[in-house]
Amino acid sequence: RIGYIRGEFVPLTKASIPVMDRGFLFGDGVYEVTAVIEGRLVDDAAHLARLERSLKEIGIVNPHTASQWTRLEEEIVRRNKLTNGLIYLQVTRGVAERAFKYKDGLVPTVVVFPQFSPVQYNPLTKTGARIITVPDLRWARCDIKSTSLLAQVLAKHAASQAEVSEAWMMRDDVITEGASSTAYIVTQHGDLVTRALSHETLPGITRQTLLRIAQDLKLRIVERPFTRQEVLDAREVFYTSASTIAIPVVEMDGVPVGGTKPGPVFEALYATYMQEVMQLTPV
Ligand code: PLP
Repeated sequence: RIGYIRGEFVPLTKASIPVMDRGFLFGDGVYEVTAVIEGRLVDDAAHLARLERSLKEIGIVNPHTASQWTRLEEEIVRRNKLTNGLIYLQVTRGVAERAFKYKDGLVPTVVVFPQFSPVQYNPLTKTGARIITVPDLRWARCDIKSTSLLAQVLAKHAASQAEVSEAWMMRDDVITEGASSTAYIVTQHGDLVTRALSHETLPGITRQTLLRIAQDLKLRIVERPFTRQEVLDAREVFYTSASTIAIPVVEMDGVPVGGTKPGPVFEALYATYMQEVMQLTPV
């Protein structure tokens, strides 16, 4: 795999980062994950806009313009012949002697690399996924896509131990979001419910596109928190992320939920999403 590491395109096995990088020492950085489907960069402009916002929130000057970022991503697609997978990009505050306080004007460390993964050929899209619920152990600014991901590492490990695909995080009895996804239910009244944006969740880019599609399809969207019990009572349950687009949920904590197969609301949203992706111009 060829990555773009600190200004150069290099094989990932040859790449290295200084020990004093604040990303390594403090998790002092932010990241983005963008899907590549049949050679198309999915929701690219929106991911780059969120990157800009995350950087601003933690006081790092964006080292590239959106069009420079896109050119880097396209170069990664071409050099790796990446047809289906993900582009990971990360910006850290840079390299300095270890101290919590930082000086302005450090040179940010930029890393971009591909991951080969099936995205839209994920079998879970058809079969549905099993999930568990876990406590949400994160800090108070979950809207920043920070590389400090210990809570999510623990949540995903719990999911892996339980042999399920995702962990939904809860504060009290309310679902905040998935460890790496946005959570939704369709109620028995047919309302599509997901949380409103706040500091408690990441503003999902897939969520943004999916809700616009839901609006186009004239679905009733209700942005509000929902409880674990509401998931058990829901007609449909699913989650979204760039790395999966959308996955239906058929079991939570060992209990069947949302029917035994993908529901009609999920199917309509997913099909439309993929149709729109295929209208994009390939790299
Ligand atoms: N919520 C969290 C905590 C995430 O880590 C992610 C993605 O990794 C999402 C939601 C989904 O966001 P997106 O649709 O932008 O991938």
